[in-house]
Parts: sequence; structure tokens; C-alpha cells
Amino acid sequence: MRVRVCGGDTPHARPRQVTNDEMCEICEVWTAESLFPCRVCTRVYHDGCLRRMGYLPQGSAAELTETAHTETGWSCYYCDNLNLLLTEEEMYSLMETFRQCHIIPDTCLTLDDFLAYKHLVHKRQFERPMGEAQEERATLQFGALDPDKRGHVEWADFLSHESIQLLQKLRPQNSLLHLLTAKERERARTAFLALPRDPDGRVSQAECRRAQLAWFRKHPPDAPSCNVSISHVGPMSESSPSSASSKSQDKAPEQEEPRLVDWPSFLSENVAYILAARPNSPAVHLKPQG
Ligand SMILES: [Zn+2]
Ligand SMILES: [Zn+2]
Repeated sequence: MRVRVCGGDTPHARPRQVTNDEMCEICEVWTAESLFPCRVCTRVYHDGCLRRMGYLPQGSAAELTETAHTETGWSCYYCDNLNLLLTEEEMYSLMETFRQCHIIPDTCLTLDDFLAYKHLVHKRQFERPMGEAQEERATLQFGALDPDKRGHVEWADFLSHESIQLLQKLRPQNSLLHLLTAKERERARTAFLALPRDPDGRVSQAECRRAQLAWFRKHPPDAPSCNVSISHVGPMSESSPSSASSKSQDKAPEQEEPRLVDWPSFLSENVAYILAARPNSPAVHLKPQG
């Protein structure tokens, strides 16, 4: 494999190290105590400070200490909440949609609630009912938001999903790239450089798609103390023959040329999924298609 160090569209050969802050974000005091880094931004925290501020809800304290220093990492309360990425106007428009589509904030949603909502939103946007393929996609998305198969989606996960969907809809992809942190860029660069590339430094479309899924491996799949991770892996690796057949109806029948993806395209085709993978929740907030 040839690695080109310079050249306009190729990434740097070696990902840069991103330096974390030195002081705890909450108390702004430097102590010798160990600090927990956020995997998305450069902020660091004392676990005592997080607990004192109530930022460690029940159960997540163990998760923090277990994962913050591992490859998986932990997202701080700024980065965990995708809703914070919306502007005030976007937030208003989202809340207005919820109101008009009979969504009651802070409640869980069943599959029926979720589909009814998606139907209403689709009808408002396109002035025609949602097709079978889209309903199937919405059902798959519901499953991805309910990795433990409890039959409902938590409000926080629904809100994160709707927030990233709205960002995708309202903002040009270029502006989504500005939302990426240095750590996320470097992680994407590392992932890109690990893929087999052609002499021009491009990867296959299939590898690019696979990467979209890979951002969601938030918990190590074999972590014994973290049983959510096992069920979390399941639904994504299932292939759905029915969705494949319905998708082929949307597309032209002729065989497509295998497309090659350079670094800038790789990043822009992955940006929404990288952002969607920020929350600590095992839910997949934006299910990649196909
Ligand atoms: Zn502190
Ligand atoms: Zn953070």
C-alpha cells in the first residue's frame, strides 16, 4: 500500500495527537487526582465534581470509570446531548413539529407512536403519505434506538435522533463538518488510513459505508460488565433481505460502477454518523442505510 504524505486531497500520513485540557471543567482546580477525559472534546473532569453537580446519573458512574480511559471513551454532558447542537431557532422549529405531531416531551415512544410521528412529519414535508420502504426504514431506525428491545424508545434517545435528523435536513454538509471536534477528525483520519486504499489514496464505497456503522461501537463488544453492549451489536449486524429488495425498487435497475471515495468525501459522508455517535447511550441515533 502506498501512502502519500503530501498531495491535496490525501490526509496527513499520521494522525495528530489532540491535547486535553489540564484543569477540571467544573472546579477549574488543578489537583493530582486523576481526571476523566471526554472522548469528543478536550474537557476533563474529576468524577467527584461530576457527581456533586448531578451529571452522573445512577449507573453511569461505573460506566465513566470503566470506559473513560479506554479506547471506547466517555462523552461529557456537553457532548452527550445532540440537542445542544441546534440553534434556538432550530430548537423552536423541532418543538413546534413535536407539538403539531402530538408528541409529548419527556415521554417514551412505542413503535406505533414513532411510526405515527414519522408519517405525520413525512406528510407535512412531502404532502404525500410515507411509502412502504420509508416505513420499513423508520421501523429499522426504531429498533436501532431500542437496542435492548424493550419495546419503547427513551425520550433522550428520540430527541438525539430528531436533532441529528434536523441538522442533516437544514444544514449543508459542509457546515456539519465544522461541528466536528479535533478528536473526531483525528479518529476519522485514523479510520480512513487503516482502510485499504488505491494508489490515489481512495477507499471503496463499501468501506466508506462500513465506517458509518463503526462509529457506533461505543462499548467494547466483549466487555463482561456491560451487558447492553452485546444486544447493541446485534440489530446492526443483521441483514434484512426485505429492506434490500425494497431499496432496489427505488433505484435504476442497471449495475452501478463501484465508486471510490477520497478523504474529503469520506469525511463528509461520515460526518452525520460521527456526530450521531456522540451520546453515551447504546442506542444508534442515526442508522446507516443499507
Ligand atoms: Zn473538579
Ligand atoms: Zn465533551
